[in-house]
Amino acid sequence: MPQTTRPELTKEEIIKTAGIIQRSRPAYGALIDFYGQVFAAQAQSRAHIILDPIIIDPALLALKQENGMPLIDPSQFLIDPAQAGILLEKLCDLAAAHAPKLAKTGEKISSALRNGNLDLAPVFLALLNNKEIQKTATLLDVPLEELTFFVFSAMAPSIQSCAVQLAAYLKDAPQLKKGYCPICGSHPDVAFLDQDGTKFLLCSLCAHEWKTRRMGCVFCDSMEKEDQHYFFSSEEKEYRVYLCDNCHNYLKLIDLRELDRSFFPKLEQISTLHLDYKAQEKGYKTPNQTPKE
Ligand SMILES: [Zn+2]
Ligand SMILES: [Zn+2]
Repeated sequence: MPQTTRPELTKEEIIKTAGIIQRSRPAYGALIDFYGQVFAAQAQSRAHIILDPIIIDPALLALKQENGMPLIDPSQFLIDPAQAGILLEKLCDLAAAHAPKLAKTGEKISSALRNGNLDLAPVFLALLNNKEIQKTATLLDVPLEELTFFVFSAMAPSIQSCAVQLAAYLKDAPQLKKGYCPICGSHPDVAFLDQDGTKFLLCSLCAHEWKTRRMGCVFCDSMEKEDQHYFFSSEEKEYRVYLCDNCHNYLKLIDLRELDRSFFPKLEQISTLHLDYKAQEKGYKTPNQTPKE
């Protein structure tokens, strides 16, 4: 069983869970409010996505599995342009209503969409190929990272749909227990322990969840006990942050046995930014980050 059997949360359940987190963490109020709405809009969009399946040739599949390689490269994910476009407009509206800092960028994207000044297909393609979209950002006169956030958030439901379809190819595969996503090869951005104490990693790109071993560093495979530490706060027993002194990466872990609400990983991630700051202050980073001086 490479995957968990957790049911996906509905739009209403996401909003409800966001409300519970908000009440327990007032400092995150506005942030959780906005992201809760974003994740709910993405969940709603998922239901309408229509995409052809990604087919992997059996010989290539066997070769990949023999060599412990991911099924596809992120550039092979398919995007439903109609649904991504509708969601992008919705995200711009949400920013206007819930995120003052992003409202201006949202407005500019929205008006470019309305006036036919933004061709989304090449922007989607560039992001999937890990290329910058600076030219579009300059054209729209918006900050690059904000444009990337909006477009990527609009693409995410398509990427997740592809990952769910591709997961069928992993059913009979030997379990790799590697520190990268068996579907797209991306790094995990969070880990969790399920009710049995089994450890899972969650892909930062396609949201696929895969089982991993309990001990050692998932990023560099170091099993040296002296290199592995973790910290936690007694007020937040559901969270732990694992630190590796070999590769200097950190990983947040959520223990579902200590969680008294529905688990929506992306919400937990947003509401634990203080743990990221703490890990970064100690000199650790995520695999895609350059270390803090
Ligand atoms: Zn992935
Ligand atoms: Zn490591």
